[in-house]
Amino acid sequence: MVRGATGSGMQVDLAIVGGGFIGQALALAAASVGLRSALIERRPRTALADAGDDGRVSSLALGSQRMLAVLGVWPTLAAEAEPIRDIRVADGRSPLFLHFDHREIGDEPFGYMVENRFLRQALLAAVERGGAIRLLAGRRLRAIQREEFAARVELDDGTAVEAPLLVAADGRGSALRAQAGINALSWRYRQTAIVVTLAHERTHDGVAKEQFFPTGPFALLPMRRSRSSLVWSLRHDLARALLAADEATFLAAVERQADGQLGLLSLAGPRYNYPLALEQAERVVDRRLVLVGDAAQAMHPIAGQGLNLGLRDVACLAEVLARQARLGLDLGEALALASYQRWRRPDALAMLLMTDGLTRLFSNNLPPLRVARRLGLGLVNRLPAVKRVFERHAAAAAGDLPRLIRGLPVPP
Ligand SMILES: Cc1cc2nc3c(=O)[nH]c(=O)nc-3n(C[C@H](O)[C@H](O)[C@H](O)COP(=O)(O)OP(=O)(O)OC[C@H]3O[C@@H](n4cnc5c(N)ncnc54)[C@H](O)[C@@H]3O)c2cc1C
Repeated sequence: MVRGATGSGMQVDLAIVGGGFIGQALALAAASVGLRSALIERRPRTALADAGDDGRVSSLALGSQRMLAVLGVWPTLAAEAEPIRDIRVADGRSPLFLHFDHREIGDEPFGYMVENRFLRQALLAAVERGGAIRLLAGRRLRAIQREEFAARVELDDGTAVEAPLLVAADGRGSALRAQAGINALSWRYRQTAIVVTLAHERTHDGVAKEQFFPTGPFALLPMRRSRSSLVWSLRHDLARALLAADEATFLAAVERQADGQLGLLSLAGPRYNYPLALEQAERVVDRRLVLVGDAAQAMHPIAGQGLNLGLRDVACLAEVLARQARLGLDLGEALALASYQRWRRPDALAMLLMTDGLTRLFSNNLPPLRVARRLGLGLVNRLPAVKRVFERHAAAAAGDLPRLIRGLPVPP
């Protein structure tokens, strides 16, 4: 019998709406502590399993990698992951840059770059391996009820799912968030990110480079086989022009921006574009409802943190739910949800302020500000104690970390 659930329909411990990376990771984390989930996704299964390249590559912080290892996802990904050994942050072409070296905080890299297509396949394989997750793909929500003792979801094929807790993992613009009347702070940046995989002549040596220009950040992130992922955020009009430019013109612009550091460049895939926006839910819990991943907070990819933050949501929620289950308590109890929210808010707000603050600080070309930030980068580079703090955060190895992010299983 499901804790706290009553009535008819498919009875599970969690009804998760949204089968993206975060919804799937949550279903796996829940299964690891003996909880059963229904994972409801509007896209068909073929889209979830799509092995095609969509140009996106994710930087997974060390803590996220440890979590995927505990959940059994990492073994299939390891061969395709490129370690991030160093991080260099510069204000445009200033010679004063900030250099983070992984050896300053230990033997392991800051994290790994993983192509989204591999992550997609590895997660789905893990979801379909165990018997604790019912994947309901290609279905649409017809009705949602959240009552005192249970939440109930009806799908367009007539399936009814009942659980003590409903999870919104439905991404940006979450419909579940809106339906619950939870407001979100949101704004659009006047920037589009151009994302493309480049092949290059010289080696990247596992260095992730981010240069901030007044027009937007320009990041080259190391990939396997002498390739890098370019994430170039630019004003919409500039981005449009570069997306429309022929290959030679585009590559010449990238080479100019990269100062030829990687030698001769060529395109190793099509150019994609993502308009950039920020969203922050004013709260992440409601009656028998919890928000995770981009449904709770979505940010500028300036620091490559959205997915990492969502995985930390999952790790914290899994720990809270495991404790409830161990004590025989209701999984959707308001007190438990409030403790989840208290745990997650500082991390989410800090990351949001950081990414938004960086975007604004570096988009401004006022001379005094430019001098101050260049000196600031140079100064932090010479303060080992301050640098260590940044380095531990980059690896997601600082703060009040849940067990999965520390690479430890959650006891059921
Ligand atoms: C250009 C770019 C680069 C990025 N790079 C990085 C990076 O390097 N590192 C990093 O950590 N993060 C990065 N991010 C952020 C990261 O991609 C997101 O934070 C992450 O993918 C969010 O996952 P999610 O599962 O919460 O949401 P989504 O991926 O949006 O998944 C939501 C899912 O819910 C489904 N859904 C929606 N509504 C319904 C409904 N009503 N019923 C059923 N299903 C529904 C959708 O079909 C989708 O499958 C980047 C983002 C961008 C834009």
